[in-house]
Amino acid sequence: MSTAVVVGSGPNGLAAAVALAREGVEVTVLEAADTIGGGTRTSELTPGLLHDHCSAIHPMAVGSPFLRTLGLEAHGLRWCLPEIDCVHPLDSGDAGVLHRSLRQTADALGTEDGPRWQRVFGPLADGFDALAEDLMGPLLHVPRHPLRVAAFGSAALLPAGAVAGLWRSERARALFAGAAAHAFRPFHRPATASVGMMIIAAGHRYGWPVAAGGSRAITDALAALLAELGGGVETGVPVRSLAQLPPADTLLFDLAPRAVADIMGDRLPPRVARAYRRYRHGPGAFKVDFAVEGGVPWTSEAAHRAGTVHLGGPYAEVAHTERLIHAGRMPERPFVLVGQQYLADPQRSDGDVHPVWTYAHVPHGYDGDATEAIVGQIERFAPGFRERIVGMAVRSPAAFEEYNPNYLGGDIITGANTTLQLVMRPRFALDPYSTGVPGVFICSAASPPGAGAHGMCGANAAASALRQLRRRGSTRGRW
Ligand SMILES: Cc1cc2nc3c(=O)[nH]c(=O)nc-3n(C[C@H](O)[C@H](O)[C@H](O)COP(=O)(O)OP(=O)(O)OC[C@H]3O[C@@H](n4cnc5c(N)ncnc54)[C@H](O)[C@@H]3O)c2cc1C
Repeated sequence: MSTAVVVGSGPNGLAAAVALAREGVEVTVLEAADTIGGGTRTSELTPGLLHDHCSAIHPMAVGSPFLRTLGLEAHGLRWCLPEIDCVHPLDSGDAGVLHRSLRQTADALGTEDGPRWQRVFGPLADGFDALAEDLMGPLLHVPRHPLRVAAFGSAALLPAGAVAGLWRSERARALFAGAAAHAFRPFHRPATASVGMMIIAAGHRYGWPVAAGGSRAITDALAALLAELGGGVETGVPVRSLAQLPPADTLLFDLAPRAVADIMGDRLPPRVARAYRRYRHGPGAFKVDFAVEGGVPWTSEAAHRAGTVHLGGPYAEVAHTERLIHAGRMPERPFVLVGQQYLADPQRSDGDVHPVWTYAHVPHGYDGDATEAIVGQIERFAPGFRERIVGMAVRSPAAFEEYNPNYLGGDIITGANTTLQLVMRPRFALDPYSTGVPGVFICSAASPPGAGAHGMCGANAAASALRQLRRRGSTRGRW
């Protein structure tokens, strides 16, 4: 029987482990922290309330071509949809509203933009599953659905600003800006439309759900399936050198490229080591989880029913603040994401006290305190919010890096979405998961298709590892 070691138990590490175990490989996952899950952990950050430490909203996980094949529902994963996916309120009281239903979204955008929204996102939502098969892997391949990929690519390769220019009303432009900001990249850069377009299309196909009981349910289910397949996870094992690892045929790293270079040392081919050390990390996140009595008193009626609320005002303001953080400057009013997962999953609340998940986009390694800036942005669209706060837990960029070394400088997406890294990450190679050392692979969000709790980086890396295993047979411990 072949054996594999996976370092890191994030969604990608566990997805890789499951993909290997399904093919009869004996897998051990080694995790530095005391609990599994990486960016999907959930716990009582404030007493009695369930808070997601990192990821919260999962259009890409529910639509993941790999996770969908696993039947994780049998291991406790249940998706819950809020009534409204996302709201982007404006100072005027108006708001952009993203419904799961394309028709409802178009109706809410009115005659100015509704028909065009339908023309742009209708075909993408209809063809989302086919598109995901092609786009949630290495981009250097012959597409299975070339026409769909070409149609998506013609808009997705544009700067987000160009796509925002399609819409006439501020509510539509702002709604798109909030989605595009998930790329953590200035809107004038090429291909920055891609992330926003993909998550909007996924939303119209599957919605923007949360996992019942918290995002940890995703990796708990993966770990349960892995155990059923005979694999195991050891926690409290920070891997710092190859000497620590048991012999195995295959080794996968659910880590940032720099950490892989550190652990592999001179075993890594020099060109790969150079590429991993040059790999660029992006801006940071400053997170505050609030306990809020009675929920957030939004001015926008729709925001009371939305799982996600994007705060940053009109398109131009969001574009400006994303540019500032990229240039290393902290805006007075940063872009803030608010998650109200409890609306879809009420078990996370304690009576009328609710967990409210927020983070602001801040410069890489920002060492200030953004708590007031976050509270200020929420107050701007929900006057009286401050008086309802009864508890909070704060995590700065430095604390994120300490919590999980994959989030260097608070970069929660494990790598800047530069044009090159959007297309080729973590380095230019036909097989981006290969480290250049036979049997050794990288499977974190630093590999295609990038960030998100969808497990596709892990599944793709495992596919690459299995192909190699079949070609060369066992070479246990040869690295
Ligand atoms: C605040 C925040 C909000 C987010 N929001 C969303 C969202 O709403 N939706 C979404 O889809 N995604 C979201 N993400 C992104 C998503 O969580 C990540 O892209 C995803 O978790 C990446 O998975 P991964 O397996 O590559 O790595 P990770 O989840 O980062 O897991 C890596 C694991 O490796 C472990 N590790 C690190 N170093 C070592 C070592 N030396 N030895 C052993 N173990 C080690 C870590 O402890 C961790 O468990 C968010 C992330 C953050 C932080």
